[in-house]
Amino acid sequence: MVARAGRRVYPLGLHYASLRNGTANSYLLYHAVRRSLGLFRDGTPVPWVSYLFPPEILASYRLTPLIPEVAATTLGGFSLVRDRLDGAVNRLPLSRDVCSYHRVALAGVQEGLIPPPTICLGTSPLCVGKEMFMEQVAADYGVPFRHIRVPVPPDEGPTPDDDVQDVAQQLRRVHEDLGAATGRRPDLDRAVRLSNRAVDAWNRLAQARVEGEVIVGGREAFGLTFLSQILWGTEAGARGFEKLLSERGRSDLMPRGFADEQGGASRGGRLRLRRQGASAAEAPALGSKARLLWLHTVPHYDPTLFSLIAEGGAVVVLEEMAQPHADLLDPDDPFSGLARRLVEHPLWGSSARRARLVIELAKRGRIDGVVHFNHWGCRHGVGSVPVLREALREAGIPFVAVDGDALAHESQEGAARQMEAFLELLTSAPRETRTLTSAGA
Ligand code: SF4
Repeated sequence: MVARAGRRVYPLGLHYASLRNGTANSYLLYHAVRRSLGLFRDGTPVPWVSYLFPPEILASYRLTPLIPEVAATTLGGFSLVRDRLDGAVNRLPLSRDVCSYHRVALAGVQEGLIPPPTICLGTSPLCVGKEMFMEQVAADYGVPFRHIRVPVPPDEGPTPDDDVQDVAQQLRRVHEDLGAATGRRPDLDRAVRLSNRAVDAWNRLAQARVEGEVIVGGREAFGLTFLSQILWGTEAGARGFEKLLSERGRSDLMPRGFADEQGGASRGGRLRLRRQGASAAEAPALGSKARLLWLHTVPHYDPTLFSLIAEGGAVVVLEEMAQPHADLLDPDDPFSGLARRLVEHPLWGSSARRARLVIELAKRGRIDGVVHFNHWGCRHGVGSVPVLREALREAGIPFVAVDGDALAHESQEGAARQMEAFLELLTSAPRETRTLTSAGA
């Protein structure tokens, strides 16, 4: 009953906040939550999807995806159901080594806090564990599991066209099959048009962040990547991402501890067109603060690491999860573009490829230090840390890998100590020499 009452009240509060502050984040959050809660209605198709499954394919049928990792994170944030959820997680006959996003999602659906799937749609990126989890859930609930096999991209250069076309063909078939499964008529042209509006806005903001023209906090912006996976291809997605182009629209995305110093809002105003080569004078004043790049996921509830970063004279200005650029889709052949986005995702492929892309982004974004969050149980993320560490050492970019669990509520002391040591090292060196200092902390 508590959960049902919460489902009624929660979107009302989000709607009010969205109207009051007019930011992109609150607008997108409201629409994503409202649609997601609609999945509890009887007879509504509930596609559980891998978090990189192209949202445009679902938007074509006006379907709302349920991304288990996002559902788990949202649910874990509600104190009213936390004890019940924790108890259910502890009773699962699963090793604690399994990624906590999946343990919490499984407990959530078994407790009736997350709607069960009517179909499960997976993609090989980013990890095998997610696909095995999805297959198990599909078997438990007796629903179809469709898996998009995605080849790994080459370490250098574009993916061969044959590989892209193979994935495009699989996506085309899933799109057709969803029509048969739901009895709905597709409108992929509309979904592509709306997606391109959102992606164009996203690209402009991402470019301005990399150039240093606009400061948006890495932790604050992290959720936008997942809101895009729910809303790209919808009218709300297009409008919400376009709001990011105004100063007011991104006013709640300032990094912690930075907003006050800047008078509460970033400079940069409305980003009409990407400006080439912004000079340092145009960029928001970071002063002596170190610019950090955050890799992989973030601790969702425990603010300790980001508080330390703010107090330690640093700012997370970029995050790896947010692709700095996505090509717009060709309305005459959207499946090829969707396929290429999947194959060439920055976190897919070999560790060497991941390291190369991280270094490229760090150099373009004039990054002073790189932080990897070693999410407990994530073999995909943690497995590539030795390669990342070595590549960044060779590039002379300070790096730290901190251990923790993204869904932990309590403060993670080991991670805090690792971060403190790193910040001390980073901020003790003059800014211009920081990137020449090697720190495999
Ligand atoms: S955190 Fe790691 S294991 Fe968990 S879903 Fe993401 S990539 Fe997979």
